[in-house]
Amino acid sequence: MSFESLGLTAELLRAVNDQGYAQPTPIQIRAIPVVLAGRDLLAAAQTGTGKTAGFALPLLQHLQKKPLRSHAPRVLVLTPTRELAAQVGESVQSYGKYLPFSTAVIFGGVNINPQIDKLRRGADIVVATPGRLLDHAQQKTIDLSRVEILVLDEADRMLDMGFIRDIRRILALLPKQRQNLLFSATFSEDIRKLASGLLHNPETIDVAPRNSTAERVSQQVYLCDKGIKRALLSWLIGSGNWQQVLVFTRTKHGANRLCTQLQRDGIEAAAIHGNKSQGARTRALADFKQGRVRALVATDIAARGLDIDQLPHVVNYELPNVPEDYVHRIGRTARAGHSGEATSLVSPDERAFLKDIERLLKQELPRATAQGFKPNPADLKPEADDRRPRHYHAPRHGHGQKSSRHSRPGSYGHQHRSASQHHTARSR
Ligand code: AMP
Repeated sequence: MSFESLGLTAELLRAVNDQGYAQPTPIQIRAIPVVLAGRDLLAAAQTGTGKTAGFALPLLQHLQKKPLRSHAPRVLVLTPTRELAAQVGESVQSYGKYLPFSTAVIFGGVNINPQIDKLRRGADIVVATPGRLLDHAQQKTIDLSRVEILVLDEADRMLDMGFIRDIRRILALLPKQRQNLLFSATFSEDIRKLASGLLHNPETIDVAPRNSTAERVSQQVYLCDKGIKRALLSWLIGSGNWQQVLVFTRTKHGANRLCTQLQRDGIEAAAIHGNKSQGARTRALADFKQGRVRALVATDIAARGLDIDQLPHVVNYELPNVPEDYVHRIGRTARAGHSGEATSLVSPDERAFLKDIERLLKQELPRATAQGFKPNPADLKPEADDRRPRHYHAPRHGHGQKSSRHSRPGSYGHQHRSASQHHTARSR
């Protein structure tokens, strides 16, 4: 199967060729003809499958085939995060570089005035996060009454982030007659409800069985005490000579703290999460992509959809309490056919999360031991909050909610001690 045989125009084929894509990915093969035919689409696809080109190429072709001199946007793409909006906007621009269409990217956390100027000058395609789009709608700086195609990208994450009311408000501003494309990594009851109210006789595509990413990524678990995690992470980065690693923490505060600690260990690190200004987030991502920052420490929401070419290492410094998030996280590596490595540092209080993940993946993740890891005893003081019982939310996909399960860090027995033995000398 080639891009030519999908019936794309010469301008789009040229742009795809410039990107160096040799052949379409499975989602592109399935989605492009459906979108070109004007049908609604419900697609189960994660970031990393090539889904952006799967909707961007045919919607650009739709604009090209039906030229219309309108000042108002004809395509609206909604995304959950600013980073994803920026990335999708960039992709649309590069796929449409030989076409005369203009794309506006609209998100919060930055000055609204340049966005207003851009919209006033005219944008055929708007890629937006819901909140800032509604600000524009309220200020009447955007006219959504001419939208012909609506794309909801990462719809499951939009619902997770509580955007459902904003989405409904936006839907009310769109013309009834339009084409709808919904992309989601998972299909919860809420997504099905949203889809059934939104899509008309949709074609359903499921190219990415949930754990296909998981199969391409080599995964390993270090069972270790919580107080040892930071030293172990620094050792893994140093001894493995990892040059680019995305590290997930559960909280913004945890991301900041780990970032500072890694810097103290001599590892260039930056944190990216919702409390950082847009400028700081963009800068951190650029530094990471260009190799100036070796470890990017992120929360799930900030990292959602980040497109980093050939990211070799992902670390779960803490496991997510929703098992599907594990699959999203490790999907940051092994993109578009590359292989990658996902490492999880799992403390005793996270064991139930590990079980949930293994149940979802239908496999036991390989346990690893850190041969040669000899942390300095000074590094092993428990952090202040390790001494308190922690109150996690019960996993949404949990299997019973025993309160004792997540409440107190315990300790592992002999067989897993190798990563947590206290040695006196440092290995490096
Ligand atoms: P996406 O899932 O849209 O975020 O795309 C993931 C990555 O795959 C991006 O870096 C794209 O540039 C890349 N990509 C998309 N389509 C193809 C293709 N047909 N061949 C190779 N790489 C692709």
